[in-house]
Amino acid sequence: MIIDTITQFLQSILDASAAIVTPDWGQLIGLLPILLLIGVVGPIVTILALVWLRYGVKRPGVRARFADSRRPAPLDAAGNPVYPAGEPFSPSEHLVYEPGATRSATGETLMVACPKCSLVRPAQHDTCGNCGLSFTLKPTTRSLRASGPKPGGAAAA
Ligand SMILES: [Zn+2]
Repeated sequence: MIIDTITQFLQSILDASAAIVTPDWGQLIGLLPILLLIGVVGPIVTILALVWLRYGVKRPGVRARFADSRRPAPLDAAGNPVYPAGEPFSPSEHLVYEPGATRSATGETLMVACPKCSLVRPAQHDTCGNCGLSFTLKPTTRSLRASGPKPGGAAAA
């Protein structure tokens, strides 16, 4: 008696699912051109989106590189600007310029602190007047780091 009820119940489920599934296949076959369209257009749109994204990501990278040539000097605990040795800086603007720069955006002479003896001198002088240290290699290192995120990560590691 109970088995009969279960069988009946299962049969009704099968009937119901058959009624649902059968028209679904018909619909799916009807949708096949649309699915094919999605299967073909979808990847193309995805590739285009990826290309667009890469292009979109690359462009701000170029802009960031230009913006990166000048940055505010880090401040010490007392709030005074600390200029990294070997990098040109503007004492009036409190900005650190990219190595190799000798004049600020306003034409002011940039200063640089010697990495060896910390003597501050105008950035246009390649060689330190105090200890004689010349650090012309530094701009090359900097520009390599600025050209891509990979070398920067390698330098940080
Ligand atoms: Zn020096």
